[in-house]
Amino acid sequence: MDQLCQGLLELAGGRVELRFGTLVRHLAVTPTGPWQLLDDGQQLLDEADWLVLSGTLLAHPRSQQLLGWEEPPLQPVARSLGDPQLTEAMASIAALGYEPRCVLLLLIDASRADHWRKLPFRLLEFQPAARQRWGLERLALQPLEDGRCAVVVHSTDAFASRHLSVYGAGSAIARLQPTQPSGEREQAVIAELTAALQQVLKHWISPCDLGDGPSKLMRWGAAFAQPPGLPAELMLCPQSRIGFCGDGLEGPGFGRVEGALLSGERLANRLVSTLRAH
Ligand SMILES: Cc1cc2nc3c(=O)[nH]c(=O)nc-3n(C[C@H](O)[C@H](O)[C@H](O)COP(=O)(O)OP(=O)(O)OC[C@H]3O[C@@H](n4cnc5c(N)ncnc54)[C@H](O)[C@@H]3O)c2cc1C
Repeated sequence: MDQLCQGLLELAGGRVELRFGTLVRHLAVTPTGPWQLLDDGQQLLDEADWLVLSGTLLAHPRSQQLLGWEEPPLQPVARSLGDPQLTEAMASIAALGYEPRCVLLLLIDASRADHWRKLPFRLLEFQPAARQRWGLERLALQPLEDGRCAVVVHSTDAFASRHLSVYGAGSAIARLQPTQPSGEREQAVIAELTAALQQVLKHWISPCDLGDGPSKLMRWGAAFAQPPGLPAELMLCPQSRIGFCGDGLEGPGFGRVEGALLSGERLANRLVSTLRAH
């Protein structure tokens, strides 16, 4: 899916300047001055006339629980701006619920990948009874060109909710924590998901087909936004020069890639008309 974004950025060519890899920790703005993006140490990363947020991390209270921040970074800025539309948008974002998911990632060595590659499906969606029985929701196989096979196992919401405090050592969130997560608890969740996978596939895949390749756990605390989303009329707050898009916006494809893409397109159209009108 990230190739979709790469493709869009390539279409924009030299008209956009790309910067990746630094968490925006603080925001600052005055009614007439530019938006300022600051890092963890309050160092200025960039300035902009308009700000578009495609994720809700800077605006949603989950950042308090997740990262121990005192309040979502956009909150004090919204208070100081006193824009009623932005205040309403912030309240609507705060009311957004999210479902978590745990994801087990296995990389099967080429010497053991044969049985995996011969399975008659690439994506297995679990029915409600199967979800309840195994705690799994989806299994995706991705044969790689070099003969290996990637296996991606998604847990159910209920499974992930039971393990909310366990996140993978390699996940983005782990890198932001002052202390490293407990490897023991992570291994226990990996073992539980692996055992469920073995049970599901026992007629086709033997334990030895799993091999001893790397297995990783990704824990997404905010995997799927839950309705109702941010209403479309709050997506652009012209007085504060801020816009919101992403999978948390109400509309077709809500909570998914489709919704994220469509909301981005809708916001872009509104932003362009607003800028033209000025
Ligand atoms: C496990 C899992 C499985 C999924 N499966 C599917 C599926 O099969 N089909 C489907 O349609 N959807 C699926 N989704 C949902 C889909 O991934 C999302 O709906 C989509 O990625 C949302 O796009 P977005 O641009 O709104 O947000 P994101 O993809 O979250 O993009 C936001 C970006 O902003 C960056 N960012 C956020 N805050 C900051 C900050 N403070 N500083 C710097 N950068 C920041 C993030 O790093 C990220 O790159 C799945 C999601 C998960 C977690």
